[in-house]
Order: sequence, then C-alpha cells, then structure tokens
Amino acid sequence: MTILHADMQWQPVMAAVQQAKQIHIVAHVCPDADTIGSQLALYHALKAMGKCVFMHNQDIAPYICRYLPGVDDITHGDVPTDIAADLVIAVDAGSLGRLGMDSAYFEGKMLMNIDHHASNTRYGDINLVDARYCATGAMIYDLLQYLNVPLDASSAAAIYAAVLTDTASFRLASVNADVHRMTADLIDAGADVGLASQSIYQSHKPARFELLKDALDSLEVRHEGRSAWLSIERVSYERTGLCGEDSEGFIDYARSIEGVEIAVFIREEKAQQWKVSFRGKAPCDVGIVAGKLGGGGHQYAAGCTMHGTLSEVRENINDILVDTLD
Ligand code: 5GP
Ligand code: MN
Repeated sequence: MTILHADMQWQPVMAAVQQAKQIHIVAHVCPDADTIGSQLALYHALKAMGKCVFMHNQDIAPYICRYLPGVDDITHGDVPTDIAADLVIAVDAGSLGRLGMDSAYFEGKMLMNIDHHASNTRYGDINLVDARYCATGAMIYDLLQYLNVPLDASSAAAIYAAVLTDTASFRLASVNADVHRMTADLIDAGADVGLASQSIYQSHKPARFELLKDALDSLEVRHEGRSAWLSIERVSYERTGLCGEDSEGFIDYARSIEGVEIAVFIREEKAQQWKVSFRGKAPCDVGIVAGKLGGGGHQYAAGCTMHGTLSEVRENINDILVDTLD
C-alpha cells in the first residue's frame, strides 16, 4: 500500500474517532461521487472498527453512485431530531454552508472537516485540509491506513469512484505516479473498473442528449478563444424532465476546445438563480475566479451560485474573466 502524504496531522483525527460514541458522516449539498465515495469508504471502515456510525446528507446521492455498496444506508433531507452524534465528520465540503444544515445542529458536537479544497474555510474543530490530494477519497485512502483498517472491496470501490471522477478520469495534472499506485491498490482490493465505468459514464438517460443539444446550441467562445461558455435554462430541464445532475460533465465539452483556458457552464436552478461551474487549464486558477463570485473550489474545477437574469450573470462573470485572462 502507498501512503500519498505521510506528513499529514492524522493524530487528532484518530484520537477523535477512537473517543467518539456515535459518528455522523456528512457529504456536501448536490453531492458528487467524491463526497459520496469518501463518505461510504469512511463508513465501511468505521463500521469495521466497531464504531456506531451513520450517514445523512441534505441531498440524495447522484444516480452515478447507485452501484456503490452501502449507498442505500445514506439518508437525506432535514436532519432527524432523534439522532445524537457526538462527532460529525464532513467530507469534501469547503465551507460549513456546503453541508446545507442549520448551524445549530453542530452545537455541542465535535466537527471534523476532511477536505482537499484550497478554498476550505477551516470551519471544523479538527481540520484535515490539504489541496495536494487529487480527491477527498484519496485522503480517506491514507486515513484508512493510519486507522489500521484493511481496505475492503466496498471501500476500494467507493474511493475508486471518488478519484476517477475528481480527476476527470485520471486526466488532470493532480494525477501523479502515487495516485496510480493507489489506484492499483484499489483494484487489487476489489474495485471493479468495468462496473465503475459502466455506472458512471454509460448509464445516462437518452433525454440527457436532448439537454446536451440545448447546451451545445448555447456554446460561445469569448476572449479570443480563451474562454468557452455553455448555459441551460430551466425550460430545457422542464421539457426533458431532467435536473441539474443530468447535465454533469457537459462543461468538459467547453474545456476540450483547443486554446480554451477557462470553461463556464451556467445552469438555471430556479427563477433568477444560477449554478455556475468553472473548469480551467493551467495556468488559470478557477478556484480564485469562483471565490471572487462567492463560491470556491480548486485550480481546475470550481463553482458558485449567482442571482439575476442570465445576461446579468454572464456579464458579472465576464468582468472577472477579463481580469483573470489579462
Ligand atoms: P461542480 O462544478 O462540479 O459543481 O463543482 C466543481 C468544484 O467546485 C467542486 O470541487 C465543488 O466542491 C466546488 N464548488 C462548486 N460549487 C461551489 C459553491 O457554490 N461553493 C463552493 N465553495 N464550492 C463550490
Ligand atoms: Mn472533491
């Protein structure tokens, strides 16, 4: 087994886990495969240690994660009032607001924040935050080794899904030889590569491609070819009967254009409210771009929520991009 980063401060994490009586693991709102994969891998590991542990999130897990063992144990919605965790572990959430929970819930509980976003606000009582990791799932891979929990097939599958998706299928600069060594360990431990690729990349509804047509119709290249923009309005989601998670990955078409340094995808969540995604190619840092607009993320992938008409939102983003691409 490979340790990705041996210089991390795992000791407070291990002590808190050992002492905890009931542990709540929580993923971020609009969960992706990194937050769900991290949550599941940690859940399996803590259960193997004999811990009393449960998973509850604001939002339902995305359909691409339905194949992962344990996903049916995750509950979602408002936090039930009858649960009494003394330790809450947040995975892959850059800020407390990303958990989508009333801050009163965290009172009297120890809050542990495990995340790889550079923009993380260090909102926990214990913060294990390191942007060198390609995915939060890779942090859990290291943590399992420090906790002395064997990597079982369920945890391996969950971490594999996290790493596969957060590295855009091992295509980002965050992927180095150690990431591939970790991936080899995950496969040795039982992660099924074929099942993952079928579930994550080949399980889309036909209507997704109606939505994709609308997105591609909106494609616009600006800044002398250095930025590419896509947008989808609510009417397209209504017409196809789909929702935001069904347009996951569309932004990669914009990023894949030669010469494009920043890709922007704007989708309407509700009237006058837009979820904006950014993807970058070096040397741009889209985490900084999203941060200026009230969101966050990493150098290569970031996002924020904005309000107004589509053209107002586009112009606000454009003002920031003009500076960034200067
Ligand atoms: P996506 O574009 O896939 O929704 O998100 C890309 C990255 O940006 C993810 O790592 C995600 O955590 C981060 N991100 C997306 N939206 C927000 C946001 O509204 N606030 C913050 N802080 N981070 C975001
Ligand atoms: Mn992540």
